[in-house]
Amino acid sequence: MQQLNVVWLRNDLRSFDNAVLSSATEDAARTGAAVLALYIATPDTWQLHDMAAIKQDLLRRRVKQLQQELATLNIPLLAIEGSSYQQIPVVFTRLGQHFLLKVFVQSEYELREQQRDNLVEHAVQVSNGQFIRFDTQCIMPPGSVRTQQGDIYKVFTPFKRSWLVQLKQQGISCYARPKALAQEKLQLPDFPALKPGDNSSAAWPVAEQEVLQLMRAFCREKVHDYQNSRDFPAIEGTSKLSAYLAIGVVSAAQCIARLQLEAADSWQQDKSGAEVWLSELIWREFYKHILLAYPDLIKHQPFQAETAAIRWSNNPSLFKAWCEGMTGYPIVDAAMRQLNKTGWMHNRLRMIAASFLVKDLHIDWRWGERYFMSKLIDGDFAANNGGWQWAASTGTDAAPYFRIFNPVSQSEKFDPKGDFIRFYVPELSKLQGKAIHWPHGVGTASGYPAPVVDHAEARKHTLALFAEVKKTA
Ligand SMILES: Cc1cc2nc3c(=O)[nH]c(=O)nc-3n(C[C@H](O)[C@H](O)[C@H](O)COP(=O)(O)OP(=O)(O)OC[C@H]3O[C@@H](n4cnc5c(N)ncnc54)[C@H](O)[C@@H]3O)c2cc1C
Repeated sequence: MQQLNVVWLRNDLRSFDNAVLSSATEDAARTGAAVLALYIATPDTWQLHDMAAIKQDLLRRRVKQLQQELATLNIPLLAIEGSSYQQIPVVFTRLGQHFLLKVFVQSEYELREQQRDNLVEHAVQVSNGQFIRFDTQCIMPPGSVRTQQGDIYKVFTPFKRSWLVQLKQQGISCYARPKALAQEKLQLPDFPALKPGDNSSAAWPVAEQEVLQLMRAFCREKVHDYQNSRDFPAIEGTSKLSAYLAIGVVSAAQCIARLQLEAADSWQQDKSGAEVWLSELIWREFYKHILLAYPDLIKHQPFQAETAAIRWSNNPSLFKAWCEGMTGYPIVDAAMRQLNKTGWMHNRLRMIAASFLVKDLHIDWRWGERYFMSKLIDGDFAANNGGWQWAASTGTDAAPYFRIFNPVSQSEKFDPKGDFIRFYVPELSKLQGKAIHWPHGVGTASGYPAPVVDHAEARKHTLALFAEVKKTA
């Protein structure tokens, strides 16, 4: 039976710096195996995970594009339309009837993904094949950054310090794009072909080279001022790479390798733009490490157990106003309308909108976590859960519960001229000066809702809610 090295792609949809693809092709060069890339869409499971339609479309467009890119390496990409994770082992069983399988995958850390991989591993082994995992989603594999006592870090700053020591020791290296293979056309069993998406992500390019160019341009032109510009949503001061990092069109290692090249003098300099951006990439890893170490997080449990007892009000009409960007707080409404319209939200706004939901409207952070997931093009379980638990003061190394964002002063500070608000809240487009941040009683904001809550009162109630559970902790 012919050996088939299957590169089962999931959130590593790239041909450069892809450990799985490189290892499968190198192995094939030694063993004479054929190489097949594989992608299986699972819309039923995506729905179960609240995956945004725009992210689903980005995945579909990217897979189609990758099919062409891998064709230039003479590697076929079999893109299958499946339904749920439960069906996947059957795909491998069928392939295993024709080939001796060696399956190469990048490990994933969420619960259903781990269960899926265990089932597929079993199916592959039953057909006498091998299932080989690569821990390459992070630069430092989860579990590999530990305190001197061997514990997992629960606080970001010492985690980052230790992470950087490891980086200096091992350096950054990226896998080269594999060389084109000389292999015959494979005879494969029939599977339903991947369906096209709804094109809702059309504004986001999907060609690998184009995405790499965006990353390089950011490192060359913008990262030097990142520490100053990153908090202002009216400025394009951040990389906007999150959607690509989430599905692996670009890797964190590629970002850091380029950063070291473009900002050789400053990336190790405290609080330089390059160093601050590097910190954000380390936050991404921190949340993945935490997720694997504390699997209760995957079940949506708060990291700080006592906060599970908080008596949220969960008022459905306030939740609706927040989702629709109709709270009467301009910066929150602009943020939510950006999310609803574009599938992306600026980080400063994610913090403001999340804090507002939890600490002004007293709605369970899990409602917001779920809503974000259902809209974000960059939806990533670890980062989203980490961000929500940070804002809600329920997470590890979270904002202290008594630090409650004032949405009006946040607005004055981070959208000082009101340009961002004017863009997304047309009802306020004629307002000038401070009125843009608090338009109530001005008379020129027709159609804009009155504030749904009083911030000062809401703040007091939040402090009381937390005091109640902290007292009993
Ligand atoms: C409530 C809330 C929910 C969030 N949900 C997600 C999510 O689902 N997916 C997601 O990728 N990010 C999430 N973030 C983190 C952050 O807001 C986005 O990564 C960032 O806004 C993406 O924009 P960018 O690519 O321009 O980031 P840049 O500022 O250019 O940062 C570079 C990269 O670092 C990573 N990163 C940056 N900030 C964080 C962070 N705080 N935590 C983890 N990784 C980070 C991202 O991969 C990002 O692309 C969330 C933050 C909050 C507060």
